Parts: sequence; C-alpha cells; structure tokens
Amino acid sequence: MKLNLNIQPLESWLNIKNEPLIISGPCSAETEEQLLSTAHLLAATGKVSVLRAGIWKPRTRPGEFEGIGSIGLEWLKRAKEETGLPTAVEVATAKHVEEALAAGVDILWIGARSTANPFTVQEIADALKGVDIPVLVKNPVNPDISLWIGALERINNAGITKLGAIHRGFSSYEKSSFRNEPMWELAIQLKTLCPQLPIINDPSHICGNRELIPYIAQKALDMDMQGLMIESHIDPSVAWTDAKQQLTPAALEELVSKLSLREPDSANEAFVDKLAELRKGIDKIDDVLMQKLGERMAIIEKIGQYKRDNKVTILQVNRWDEILKKGSAFARALKLDLGFTEKFLELVHGESIRRQTEIMNEGKETADVTEAEATPVNIIETDAK
Ligand code: PEP
Ligand code: MN
Repeated sequence: MKLNLNIQPLESWLNIKNEPLIISGPCSAETEEQLLSTAHLLAATGKVSVLRAGIWKPRTRPGEFEGIGSIGLEWLKRAKEETGLPTAVEVATAKHVEEALAAGVDILWIGARSTANPFTVQEIADALKGVDIPVLVKNPVNPDISLWIGALERINNAGITKLGAIHRGFSSYEKSSFRNEPMWELAIQLKTLCPQLPIINDPSHICGNRELIPYIAQKALDMDMQGLMIESHIDPSVAWTDAKQQLTPAALEELVSKLSLREPDSANEAFVDKLAELRKGIDKIDDVLMQKLGERMAIIEKIGQYKRDNKVTILQVNRWDEILKKGSAFARALKLDLGFTEKFLELVHGESIRRQTEIMNEGKETADVTEAEATPVNIIETDAK
C-alpha cells in the first residue's frame, strides 16, 4: 500500500503556543456559559493552542444529547474573540461543513464514526472543494487502516493540504481497561506510510476515564506524535457527554506541565554515539533471532515431510499447553512480560502449523486442502517435537 499525500507541515498552518501542541475543550458545547468559562480557563493556562467543542454529537443511541447545534457556533465565535484561541469542531455532513465555515471555525475534524463510512467522508470532501481549511481525520471506530487512509485520501483529493490524523483508539470486543484500544501499531503503520503526516493523539477517547489519561498522553509523545487532543470541561461531573473522561482546565494544566518532551533525535554527539552502539547490539540480537526462527522452521518442514511421507497424523492437543507452560515459566524467570511472551509463542506456533499444513497437503486436491486448513488440529500435530 502506498500513500502519497500532498500535505503542508503542521507548523506552517498552526501557531503552536507551547510544545506539545494541545487541543482542548469540552466534548460538547452545552451552554454559552459552560463553553466560555471553560475556554477562558484553558486560554489562561497558556498551554492550549486550539479550542475544541462538539456542536453536533454522533451518539450511539437516539435520545441521548445530540449536540446543541448551530447556536453553539455563535458561542464558539465569541470564545475565539475573547480568548484569541482558534477553534475546532467535528463535521459529519456537508451542511455541518457549510455552517462551520460560515461561522469562521478554524479547524474541522472528522469523527471516528464518519471515517468508517466512505459515503460520509466523500460528502464532506465534496463540500470542502475549493476551501482552504485544516482538517483532522480521526481513525475509524474499527481497526481498519485502509478506511483511515481512504478518508485522508478523499479529503486530500478535495484539495485540502493542511491535513492531519487523530489517533483515538479502536473498538474492541475484548474487555479492556481502555474505552478504545490504542492499537499503537496502526498509528505507527500510518506514520510509516506517510512520515510527513502529523498524528495527534486523543487520550480522552482512548481511555474513557480520567485516571489513564496521563499515561496515554505521555506514551503518545514518546511515540513521537505531534500533539494531544484532550477533553476539558469547567465541571466534568455534570458534563452532558463523556463526563468520566473530561478534565477540569486546572487538571489539564497540571497534566500538560508534567509531560516530558523527548526529542526524536538529539544533536548531542555522545548521545548519538551511545544510541548507535546500543542499536548495534539490538541488530545483532535480531539477526540471531531471525536465524533461529529460520532453523526452527527448517525442523518444522522436516516434520511435515516426515509425516506426509509416512501418512502419519498424530493429534497432540496437549502440545500447545506444554509449549505455553514451559515458555511462560522461562519468561517469568527472565522477567519478560507474560502477555508479550504468549503472543510471541502463539505467532511462532501459528506459523509452524500453517507451514506444516501446507507441506502435508502438497499435491492434494483443492477440496482436501480447504478442509485441512479449516481444521488443522485434526489433521496435523500441533508443532515440532
Ligand atoms: C469527540 O471528539 O467528542 C468524539 C465524538 O470523538 P470520536 O469521534 O473519536 O468518538
Ligand atoms: Mn467526546
């Protein structure tokens, strides 16, 4: 997959008051008083570069607060006049775009639910043709990087070059401490495909609660993300939406002041030398790991061929348990993370099964292969031994 976006660097279109870039404001504009008082306190921290507020809220269930609507744009205009902060709102339809532009909103963002729908994104893109305004695209609710990329491309194709992405985590069926799983690897993949694309992290929607926000915010900066979008409300306990994940402006200020900024690169020569030396060590170990994986796979191939030639099918349901138990005990002794170890073993074991299935079925009719792949555990033993 290639990603050729024509984009302008973030610094050329956004006046960043303070590193890191902080976009903050309430999840929803609720009342004029709530929005203005929050905006004034945020501006007074001196740490916020952009004021955000949801005007139209995409809610999961009907009947929940669906945003204050157009009147909120007037409040936002006033907040900008009084604080000097540029403003950002979420748009989900062509009409939202028109209204936001007419009200002088400075930055638009596309929400996670909209990014998941190419029709919606295209409608927004069409409404943006010929307009020069920054647009930030949140990741889609589901962990599908193509949808995220597709949305960025549609907006870029409409002529928007002041473009960025927002990483707000992904819906997951599995229970987790996060509201939306960060799945950092997807954001990293996007950054790898398009290094010039600014990615802003949204710890509020990843965490879903206040307690985890500092951890995710710091991690995002450590992963070299360009900024943070964090929800802030004058009194989060009475917020109409996302009450559990909003910070008071004072708490936001404290959080931001505690963040450590780490340079992606340092000009310090001793540091660069030391880093290069450590990296050399890692590269050497990676080479050995690869070589060992290759050797392991060679044994797997032999086992596959041996069983195929001898028409042997040995069912070993306990084999995986044994690998896992042994591996976990060793990992514990080495102080390796158990979750990581399990995932690693699962991956290696899965690949072994795939290769054995392939070998065992070489030359077989397609129908047999399909059947074998559907129930590999019944056809082959689970791993090398
Ligand atoms: C929001 O920013 O308030 C919002 C609705 O976010 P998301 O689209 O990430 O759910
Ligand atoms: Mn929200």
